[in-house]
Amino acid sequence: MAQSGSADDRLQTVVRLIASNMVAEVCSIYLLQPDNRLELFATEGLRAEAVHNTFLALGEGLVGTVAQTARPLALSHAQQHPAFAHRPETGEDPYLSYLGVPLLRSGRVLGVLAVQNATTRAYKLEEMEALETVAMVLAEMVASGELVNLAALHQAELVDDRAMHHHGVAISEGIALGHAVLHQPRFHVTKIIAEDTAEELGRIEEAIGQLRAQVDAMLSGDNLGRAGEHREILETYRMFANDRGWLARLREAIESGLTAEAAVERVQNETRARLMRQTDPYLRERLHDLDDLANRLLSHLVGVPLTAAGDDLPTDAIIIARNMGPAELLDYDSDKLRALVLEEGSATAHVSIVARALGIPMIGRVEGITDLLEAGDAVIADGDTGEVYALPSPEIVDSYSEKARFRAKRQAQFRELHDKPAVTKDGIAVSLTINAGLMVDLPHLHEAGADGIGLFRTELQFLIASAMPKLSEQRAFYTEVLDEAGDKPVTFRTLDVGGDKVLPYLAHAKEENPALGWRAIRIALDRPGLLRYQLRALLQAAAGRDLRLMFPMVAQVSEFQAARELLDKELARLERLGQPRPSDIKVGSMLEVPSLAWQLDALLPLVDFISIGSNDLLQFFFASDRGNPRVGDRYDLLSPAVLSFLQHVVAQCGVHDVPVSLCGEMAGRPLEAMTLVALGFRTLSIPPAAVGPVKAMILELDAGKLAGFVNERLSLPDSSLRSQLAEFAFDNKIPL
Ligand code: PEP
Ligand code: MG
Repeated sequence: MAQSGSADDRLQTVVRLIASNMVAEVCSIYLLQPDNRLELFATEGLRAEAVHNTFLALGEGLVGTVAQTARPLALSHAQQHPAFAHRPETGEDPYLSYLGVPLLRSGRVLGVLAVQNATTRAYKLEEMEALETVAMVLAEMVASGELVNLAALHQAELVDDRAMHHHGVAISEGIALGHAVLHQPRFHVTKIIAEDTAEELGRIEEAIGQLRAQVDAMLSGDNLGRAGEHREILETYRMFANDRGWLARLREAIESGLTAEAAVERVQNETRARLMRQTDPYLRERLHDLDDLANRLLSHLVGVPLTAAGDDLPTDAIIIARNMGPAELLDYDSDKLRALVLEEGSATAHVSIVARALGIPMIGRVEGITDLLEAGDAVIADGDTGEVYALPSPEIVDSYSEKARFRAKRQAQFRELHDKPAVTKDGIAVSLTINAGLMVDLPHLHEAGADGIGLFRTELQFLIASAMPKLSEQRAFYTEVLDEAGDKPVTFRTLDVGGDKVLPYLAHAKEENPALGWRAIRIALDRPGLLRYQLRALLQAAAGRDLRLMFPMVAQVSEFQAARELLDKELARLERLGQPRPSDIKVGSMLEVPSLAWQLDALLPLVDFISIGSNDLLQFFFASDRGNPRVGDRYDLLSPAVLSFLQHVVAQCGVHDVPVSLCGEMAGRPLEAMTLVALGFRTLSIPPAAVGPVKAMILELDAGKLAGFVNERLSLPDSSLRSQLAEFAFDNKIPL
């Protein structure tokens, strides 16, 4: 097509050519402006003065209807259509029949291409398809700036207009300023007209074959969960991938002269337009699935990987995705990862656990974000509040840069405390250990200046794997953890799966109340092979060194005893085989089910230590689901009820001379940690990022004084002592 002359001239040439090819008296192009109005950009047949002077709102007139529905419209009596809007300046009165098609690119409406005839003409299906094909080519040329001067599309305002502020759910804390990387890059189809239809048909057949095989493999379990897909979504993929209607439409589109890629795009555009009109949210949700599937098909056709992980990443990558599995996040170069923003996602999803382990901010449930952002857009992700800014204004960038500088300064202050022991002003030493679960956590142990790993969640290795880790893999992993930890102690917690931690490859019946269901030690005792394998791997990895391990979710003493017996069997096996033992073994129990607190006289003589899991404890104590946002925050750990409970456990442990620690998230928050020290806790296990702030608090605390303050308030009827404790900290200049 014409390359010379002004953009308007080129567009004018295009409409003239189309009009003559379609044997139409009129051909016009309307382009969508940032203010969502459609502007007439070129016409053959209507009055030239109307160009850049005729505007229609989305949904207004025939042009607005085509744009709004993203569907073609063919009418032999245009004026009789209810949406018809009279625009006298165009001089369109004599033209009776009308055929309009949307200019679509990657599912977005860029404008409308319309032809008109003076006679009452019934446009044929082939004519409509031909015009749609031309519209695809035009959309590509418009987007590339080949046909219109992008400045004429008011690009400056366009950018401003796309500036966005979204509010999602804060999942992993921290602030990041960076640039968007679309986890699944959108494929832009550039070659539209096929040279050899038979060859294109062959290509689509092959790509569909690959797609089906891929979906089957994902469903077979080998890879289930790798990309965070749920089984239902994969089943939907499989249904579509085998859907005859979909395949027939793809073939038809190729037979009309399109390349295989353009056919996928055309069919997807049509499907999108159909599903967009659905009011049923379930059906509209399927649009996402179909978009994903079409993208997968395009990736097979183009032969490029589906995710951006292998690409040249910007050094400040903010990954934008609909959803993602933990292994996929680990595929990215962590040096360049700044944040993760998901349309779906939840605090307890496996990918969230990995994001927290990597120490990157993560925001979930940001509606529509994958459609709204382009690769390379500047983004600010605030993992503290759940805020996401796209194309932020200079004022917002300034304010966030200031926040980021402030955080960096505080981090530097905390780093200065690295080698200082955490001792209160009245001389009480507190051991600060970290929670970990992946190899990526290990460097934090030394960086944070922590005394060890107080909770190593072994299930994370299982959660991010695509198949059950073999004995040799488990052994190698634990060996590496112990090697990295060096002389610092590591407390391994045996597999805590079930509840919200579902292993994609382990058959698991759906439960009404998974948190109260078949999980952790209950699975371990019912499937002793699983626990024995893990214990074997731990014993072998710790040969000749100290081993500390504990069992999760113990609700009664007999469960601890049964698990301990399995350990003894494994020890006897080592003996039999003449294999080396660990130099010392300490076995503990988690206390996260309240019932155990009333069996301490029976339990404590059997254990070497106990560790309180406040995350689960809170939900069982108050009967309040930790994953349910409606009730998750309803009860406070700083209530007299919980504090009295904890005080009771600490006192009992004192009587039996058994060390007790607390390893739930609560211990990582300075105000809560302050209270725990006052209650008598001398070991806390906390997220690595909390070591600095908690240590800074301890250094300014008079624990004896606070213990008196707390004791006086334990019998109050208040639902929380939070504000009184915060006041104490303020009055005593304790940094929180
Ligand atoms: C807890 O419940 O407090 C705990 C530490 O275990 P998790 O969070 O892994 O369930
Ligand atoms: Mg727990």
